[in-house]
Amino acid sequence: MLFRIAALSSILLQAFTADAAAGAFDYDHVELWADMPGSECNGKANSPIALYTSDCTAPQADYKFTPGTCGIDNYDFYVTKNGVQMALDTAASCSNPTVKIPNISSTYTHLQTHIHLSSEHSIDGNFYGAEMHMVHKRIGDDTSSMQYAVIGTMIEPTAAANNPMFEAWLQRWVAALKTMTPTVCESCWGAYPLEAYEQNVYQGFIGKDFWHYDGGLTTPACTEAVEWNFTTEPMQISVKQYQMLTELILDTRIQNDDDTKCKDITVAAVSGSTSRPPQQLNGRSVVKYCSFS
Ligand SMILES: [Zn+2]
Repeated sequence: MLFRIAALSSILLQAFTADAAAGAFDYDHVELWADMPGSECNGKANSPIALYTSDCTAPQADYKFTPGTCGIDNYDFYVTKNGVQMALDTAASCSNPTVKIPNISSTYTHLQTHIHLSSEHSIDGNFYGAEMHMVHKRIGDDTSSMQYAVIGTMIEPTAAANNPMFEAWLQRWVAALKTMTPTVCESCWGAYPLEAYEQNVYQGFIGKDFWHYDGGLTTPACTEAVEWNFTTEPMQISVKQYQMLTELILDTRIQNDDDTKCKDITVAAVSGSTSRPPQQLNGRSVVKYCSFS
């Protein structure tokens, strides 16, 4: 099955990079996001939220992940002002990864994956080193208000060895610096040998338990259109990989418009955070789907 997503993807890239379309924003002034044009950032069903260890919601239910045929060469890699991103090439002739969420009839197709520093959600009051969001778009049923589904996970630098798939992604983000516009001023990262890896973007999620709730985008305009699915088990990467991730996001400097000097690309807070704090639940239910397989 072939899913073509050109128009949808460009809409979503705008929504998530949120720069020209929604105006400038940064992470030292999150309280100003609600004042931006078209903003839903003061809504009652925003994201992220604080998550808590809980019992499984009955009955147990599995997510259905279909990896599709797209490989790493079908993704475009970017270093953005609030993280790193890999987006499926809209011209790619491959079948997108898809996910089916328990108790939702529609299937969601993968558009892009991006990473925030540090985590946006919390688990039992604890934050983590980074948080990954796999953004999906609902297939068909354009009338639903919940047009997006995010598969999310904490990332923590606790692996003894490099995470092979993450290593391949890092190398692509390093390569992306060389072709960025405006030009990147300098990069201390070069190409390095790549280990073998399995390119299944869902490999960290299959058979895992998830919290599920209705929320929104975590960047302006905070649009409340997202089925959130957050795994209870963090993705583990090595300390070296976490160092590379933070340097790519926080230390990438680009040419200024007048070509006279360099400026930071990041809109991180002074703490280095590109994460929005948890928002009020306002009576929403959070269910926990536990895998039975
Ligand atoms: Zn995100």
